[in-house]
Amino acid sequence: MEQGAFIIVIPMIACLLAWLMMPFDFRTNTTLRKRALVERLNALLPQTQCGKCSYDGCQPYAEAIASGKADINNCPPGGDETIRNISTLLGRDMKKLESEHEQQLQQHVVLIDEQICIGCVKCINACPVDAIIGAAKQMHTVISKACTGCELCIAPCPVDCISLVPVNVEIKKWVWTKPQPEFEVST
Ligand code: SF4
Ligand code: SF4
Ligand code: SF4
Repeated sequence: MEQGAFIIVIPMIACLLAWLMMPFDFRTNTTLRKRALVERLNALLPQTQCGKCSYDGCQPYAEAIASGKADINNCPPGGDETIRNISTLLGRDMKKLESEHEQQLQQHVVLIDEQICIGCVKCINACPVDAIIGAAKQMHTVISKACTGCELCIAPCPVDCISLVPVNVEIKKWVWTKPQPEFEVST
């Protein structure tokens, strides 16, 4: 057999052996395969549970991608890196973040006006990443470094003392804005 034929046949045999070594249920059960795909997709998502993808959290968004109901570019906190990782996993082309999410790329956090806060604890219960500290009938405050700016704590506040503010860009984190191409190169 020629060397070129070996290069094609050997990977094919390796794939066939790997497939045969899978548990029988896994080979034949599409539900198991889909569940495994959802787990792998979910592992690529940021796990902030912010809901900015229009789903209730990262796991539901992973399920929607796996079943073809959602595109791969709807997670603003994950940005380009997450889209790239998902596109690699699924063997799809890289995409830009969905345009309706682009304005969310600027990082935000929330602040609590401690003079108005009545210590009702509703914001703590709403925060998916434990970024708010306080106790019943005590002033509450936000740990800015932990806050993802998901806004889930704003609506439950009965006295409207939580507001969203942009994060000041420190010189260490500042980067040049990526330039847009002025013309397309024809091939
Ligand atoms: S937008 Fe991203 S981080 Fe937020 S819930 Fe959806 S998948 Fe998770
Ligand atoms: S503090 Fe509010 S905005 Fe920040 S992560 Fe928690 S719920 Fe989201
Ligand atoms: S929901 Fe509003 S009033 Fe209640 S503890 Fe949080 S910040 Fe204070």
